[in-house]
Amino acid sequence: MHIAVLTMFPEYFRSPLDTSLVEKARRLEHLTVEVVDLRAYGTGPHRQLDDAPFGGGAGMVMAPGPLAEALDPLEGTHRVLLTPAGRPLDQATLDRLAEFESLTLVCGRYEGVDERIAEHFIDEEISIGDYVLLGGEVAALVIIEGVVRLLPGVVGNPASIANESFRDGLLEEPQYTRPAEFRGLKVPEVLLSGNHQKVAEWRQRQRLRRTMQRRPDLAADFPDSEDDD
Ligand code: SAM
Repeated sequence: MHIAVLTMFPEYFRSPLDTSLVEKARRLEHLTVEVVDLRAYGTGPHRQLDDAPFGGGAGMVMAPGPLAEALDPLEGTHRVLLTPAGRPLDQATLDRLAEFESLTLVCGRYEGVDERIAEHFIDEEISIGDYVLLGGEVAALVIIEGVVRLLPGVVGNPASIANESFRDGLLEEPQYTRPAEFRGLKVPEVLLSGNHQKVAEWRQRQRLRRTMQRRPDLAADFPDSEDDD
């Protein structure tokens, strides 16, 4: 996969792209990332990217000209604008984005981008949640992380992706590791039993219970869970 990121702050991406599985994906050439400095397309001696909003109001708006020039060579890629007004990001959207060969992620700043860019130069608008950040860079990194771990060969054991939260509409069950007793706190007996059938049933009950308690919106399609441990 190739990802182009359009940003006013290329330096924002240095450390995250050189860390952990994103670094591994780039090293193994599952992923290439091109960080495009929007300033290069700015106008005037200060490489300006923003202008005052028509109709008045607080703040500045990212002007269409520089963004369009940066986006023109990226036609044919799937172009995503990060914006609080976009469709809320979820696992199904990440699964879908991971299928594209080339993604372009456009990071807004100021009050956002001129609407003509959103309407005519963008394929999809995505929000990472119902809150407002300073800019789209963190949102772009959320998408990069979420997509990269789905690329074949990046996560060591594919089963860890198949069994995790949101895969079957449920949250993952609680996880435990050694020691079996820690400061008097014991691991649930069933996990030490060696009975794979019972462990699988316990895990499924825990997934249902946890989802009902914490995310009833997700659990709406599932029958009531039994409240045991
Ligand atoms: N005036 C905008 C509004 O009220 O919706 C907020 C603009 S925000 C300060 C600047 C930029 O940050 C946006 O253009 C967008 O790229 C990014 N951004 C902020 N919050 C975001 C979110 N929840 N999801 C995706 N991008 C976000």
